[in-house]
Amino acid sequence: MEKKIVVLAGDGIGPEITSAAVEVLKKTAEKYGHTFVFDDRYMGGCAIDKFGVPLPDETVTACKAADGVLLGAVGGPKWDSQPAENRPEKGLLGIRSALGLYANLRPAVIYPELSDASPLKPSVLKKGVDIMVVRELIGGIYFGPRGTKDDGKTAYDTEIYGEDEVRRIAKVAFDLAMTRRKKVTSVDKANVLLSSRLWRRIVEDVAKDYPEVALNHLYVDNAAMQLVKDPSQFDVLLCPNMFGDILSDEASQITGSIGLLPSSSLGTCKAGLFEPIHGSAPDIAGQDIANPIATVLAAAMMLDNMELRTEARAVEKAVAKTIADGWRTPDLGEGKRVGCREMGIIIADNIR
Ligand code: NAD
Repeated sequence: MEKKIVVLAGDGIGPEITSAAVEVLKKTAEKYGHTFVFDDRYMGGCAIDKFGVPLPDETVTACKAADGVLLGAVGGPKWDSQPAENRPEKGLLGIRSALGLYANLRPAVIYPELSDASPLKPSVLKKGVDIMVVRELIGGIYFGPRGTKDDGKTAYDTEIYGEDEVRRIAKVAFDLAMTRRKKVTSVDKANVLLSSRLWRRIVEDVAKDYPEVALNHLYVDNAAMQLVKDPSQFDVLLCPNMFGDILSDEASQITGSIGLLPSSSLGTCKAGLFEPIHGSAPDIAGQDIANPIATVLAAAMMLDNMELRTEARAVEKAVAKTIADGWRTPDLGEGKRVGCREMGIIIADNIR
């Protein structure tokens, strides 16, 4: 099977981690008799340097024509003085919008061998952690009207959600729950925000079509607390854009390192965008110490979306074997020390 994959390496550690993931994908293609055609494109700070804008039109065109888009990360101090409308992160928000990617899926799973790397006590982790955060991605406060008043002393952002936006992301969460442990926890702030009251009403409406799925609601502040108190209580965590952004970082740290967690963004475009949940980590860029596992697992989610399910499972098993064999980038604590590049090679070698 031939698949076209656009690679947006981006900034900071982006080129290092995407190289490792491409190494794994090449080995997967070789093992299973596929041809993956990789197309490197610019987005983020590197695109500002080359084209003057964070998201060149040619990148959007290439992504729309691809079977999958693999992204490293964007941003860094070099571009912090850019005007708000031309920052690297604008490229990220722009590509999500351009591809209609409204659903962001962020699995958080704990590997038993890495439980020491978790900040939580073994007694809290003993029941395991297997959470799927489903985050609404192209609505809410990150996309509502915003502004700074003329005097520069007041600024505002606006949280807006429409019924259809809530309904389509809620359906994604309930469909996923049906393939998992059949539980959805919807996160909002309905005691204060009107947009959250609408969110809750529509989620309850969607739940009527899924009688087998247990639904509960949590205010976001309580959800943040419950995540560290007893993460095993969660199956699918359904969140508006900003709450999902924050809670998925919290969930990631429970698993041991932000360098372990992948995400997929799906919507109306066949491609989908697959990336680690972390940023460009400028503090460790260029040192070959970044953990590429989140990006490799994002590549596995991409294979799933291409319906190459055996291949996706092979990548996940290769990662699990690499961890079980004791290979560790510095963020994962003690073990057989490896850098980013070598970790990619070992995982690729473990593809069965
Ligand atoms: P970050 O996720 O880049 O880094 C947070 C901490 O985690 C740092 O100490 C970093 O070294 C560490 N870390 C992150 N990924 C790691 C990995 N794979 N292996 C080992 N350690 C890792 O978040 P930040 O420092 O808040 O942001 C840095 C830049 O990234 C900013 O410009 C921000 O806007 C951008 N950012 C981009 C994305 C994205 O592209 N999707 C997401 C978040 C932040």
